[in-house]
Amino acid sequence: MRAIRRFSVRPVLPADLAALGELAANLRWSWHPPTQALFAEVDPDLWADHHHDPVRLLGAVSSERWAELAADTGFVERVARARADLASYLSADRWYQKVSVAEAETAWPAAVAYFSPEFGITSVLPQYSGGLGILAGDHLKAASDLGVPIVGVGLLYRHGYFKQSLSREGWQLESYPVLDPDELPISPLREADGSVATISLGMPGGPDLLARIWVAQVGRVPLLMLDTDVEGNPDHYREITDRLYGGNSEHRLRQELLLGVGGVRALRVWSRITGAPAPEVFHTNEGHAGFLGIERIRELTADGGPGLTFEEALEVGRGSTVFTTHTPVPAGIDRFPRSLIEQYLDAAGGATPEVPTDRVLALGAEDYEGGDPGVFNMAVMGFRLAQRLNGVSLLHGEVSRGMFKGLWPAFDTEEVPITSITNGVHAPTWVHPEVFAMAAAHGALADPTEVGSAEDTAAYWAAVDKVPGTEVWATKRRLREHLVADARRRLRRSWEKRGATPAELGWIEEALDPDVLTIGFARRVPSYKRLTLMLRDPDRLRGLLLHPERPVQLVIAGKAHPADDGGKRLIQELVRFADEAGVRHRIVFLPNYDIALAQPLYPGCDVWLNNPLRPYEACGTSGMKAALNGGLNLSILDGWWDEWYEPEFGWAIPSADGPGLSGDPDTRDDLEAAALYDLIEHEVAPRFYERDADGVPVRWVEMLRHTWKELGPKVLATRMVGDYVRRLYAPAAGVGRTLDTPDDGYRRARELAAWKARVRGAWSGVRVEHVESHGLPDVTEVGHSLEVHCYVALGELAPEDVEVQLVHGRVDAEDVLEGASASPLALVESYEGNRHRYDGGVELTRSGAFGYTVRVVPRHPLLISPAELGVVATA
Ligand SMILES: *Cc1c(COP(=O)(O)O)cnc(C)c1O
Repeated sequence: MRAIRRFSVRPVLPADLAALGELAANLRWSWHPPTQALFAEVDPDLWADHHHDPVRLLGAVSSERWAELAADTGFVERVARARADLASYLSADRWYQKVSVAEAETAWPAAVAYFSPEFGITSVLPQYSGGLGILAGDHLKAASDLGVPIVGVGLLYRHGYFKQSLSREGWQLESYPVLDPDELPISPLREADGSVATISLGMPGGPDLLARIWVAQVGRVPLLMLDTDVEGNPDHYREITDRLYGGNSEHRLRQELLLGVGGVRALRVWSRITGAPAPEVFHTNEGHAGFLGIERIRELTADGGPGLTFEEALEVGRGSTVFTTHTPVPAGIDRFPRSLIEQYLDAAGGATPEVPTDRVLALGAEDYEGGDPGVFNMAVMGFRLAQRLNGVSLLHGEVSRGMFKGLWPAFDTEEVPITSITNGVHAPTWVHPEVFAMAAAHGALADPTEVGSAEDTAAYWAAVDKVPGTEVWATKRRLREHLVADARRRLRRSWEKRGATPAELGWIEEALDPDVLTIGFARRVPSYKRLTLMLRDPDRLRGLLLHPERPVQLVIAGKAHPADDGGKRLIQELVRFADEAGVRHRIVFLPNYDIALAQPLYPGCDVWLNNPLRPYEACGTSGMKAALNGGLNLSILDGWWDEWYEPEFGWAIPSADGPGLSGDPDTRDDLEAAALYDLIEHEVAPRFYERDADGVPVRWVEMLRHTWKELGPKVLATRMVGDYVRRLYAPAAGVGRTLDTPDDGYRRARELAAWKARVRGAWSGVRVEHVESHGLPDVTEVGHSLEVHCYVALGELAPEDVEVQLVHGRVDAEDVLEGASASPLALVESYEGNRHRYDGGVELTRSGAFGYTVRVVPRHPLLISPAELGVVATA
């Protein structure tokens, strides 16, 4: 029978225990084991039955049990202490408050808005699909621990992402359980009169779209989540926030308009209701939220606003926006038909009324070599709407500069203004409490969330150096045991769903072994991640798994996108192999990779395997989580591993991406797989099984200590967020304060826009007319200097509008400058006709083929790169 109406009954907690409700409502519990222990104490069985979900737990406890707990003074006291601890976590000054005061001359932003289509915070709020969402969740949590005043902005998907199970044949099956907001750790934002707060958005040909605003409290950080499943919306609007990454292009566009445009509106409502400061910096996590920049332009240009022009408003928004690109895989970038954008952004009544559609279209146009004129590209718009741009590892920064150099066609790849900040992971979420306990027993701080500064962090992880080898090894074995137990539970459940009878499942009790070298491999399953590379030579793999003295075991997980049949075939291939009776105790595929599966997986692994097709892994973070749990990495030199690999942290699988092979993916896979097998057989397994009299693999444990001590501090999300604050947020806030100035009618923004228009308009008159270098023979010596004077015509521009640069460096056989540097030349004399002489020089510090040229680039105090305007005049 179906109910005709559903509603939720909230639990009533005894007065003395009411704080449990507060503790459940703040997601800080998800990275705070003492609070989790308190929930477990309420009722250990219910805690397990409800998958460690405090909100559900509290709803399930009987009144008798509540009465018992309320009478237990020890428990009541522990609850009071936990509440006091949370209150102090939320209010005390943390890293951000301390450092921003110490460095007061560059006041840090009062608030930063962080937009992302997905947030992976805890398994009980399943609003993520993979790396991007987990990273966003870790960003918010680390920001909370550091006291960074971030506000997250996202959507609330009624079905989240899908749950994965397997058919008997090993084919991925998807299900989409409905999430009831009343059972989620979120609360509606309400107006002063108690009504739920909403925002609205114009839609083509229909009524306005309404969305309510939910708030998830992530420690100190609020996360606003927009939800269109509200009364007052027609049914087809209610479905807009149905699923993450589901539906066709139009569906995606509606979601992204809601996220970007609706997100800015939600922030305004949030500030109005709570009095929170307006964000000074807007951070766009990947292109999906890019429309936030258009909404900010609308605010400044539409009727009733300050009446800026499109260009002036663009400057205001751009100066305070950070855009992070996350993938070099073209399929990972949102591209819409231009016609669809025209339809939804109709200036007369679309999502951002009064903003001229042609201007928006120009921002997302692929108007460069190789671009598609019919397409609107969200990443391209992201680059044009933000002054500060970054990739997520050194290598990915470099790859992105190459990939998007068409947007700055006049400049060499190295000068493309995309920097990089390497991702990190939130240790309190991902490091097993037993690892923290081990460190704490040897002098590390008890509460890792108190670790803020870089020095504290290094000291924290250095404590692991003092742990005796026997203790490291005993801890590692317990972590493997936890994983084995969890994996068996999951295998049993999976096989039951696949239709096996209990009599067929006896083998599961023997699946995996807590003393065998355990290799983990878990990730989404796009083709570049090469889930099945390990199956390239199945006999060789069997040999490794079943080795009589030095066996290895593999724990594998991963979801394929529901529309990706290729990915599902890879999963099936792997599952079929893992189903074989001869190897199934040594290789398992665990369905439904999510945070709950991931948390015991990383600690239980000795080695983390990653074999992407270089350079498509922008960063990768799972190996970092493994490293912090005493795991060694075995990986292709891609993403973060390319940057930080050291032989003491694990092994580099050689990539066969050199010249001559690039055309043949099969050969490449063969070579890389063979290298992988060789490494496992000859390096990894022998080292793991080489033991001293106490049974400890001494060399291995040495590597673990090195990993913790040297790699540990680098891979942390606190390091990452600190980098964002210092390198991007603080300077962006500075520019924002210069340009976003309603009090003086946005004087500097108007000036900047006018200056750019003038410089662009007059640039054709800028020329390097003549260059002379003195006393420089064809061959010279290190230590000599190169002296140059040159004559430059500036047309309509003044000398203060430009910088004349000597660009110098090594040259290749074709006289192309490589990794050149630019030094400014000095104006020495001006002549009639706006012609000028500039002089300067550079000392030759390196031997070899050297070359130089002279160029003129625009100059303005608010530019951060000479490439920003995209214009240059070269000799
Ligand atoms: C860490 C994590 C990811 C992302 O891993 P990558 O190595 O960055 O691809 C995806 N899903 C879950 C559940 C994770 O914990």
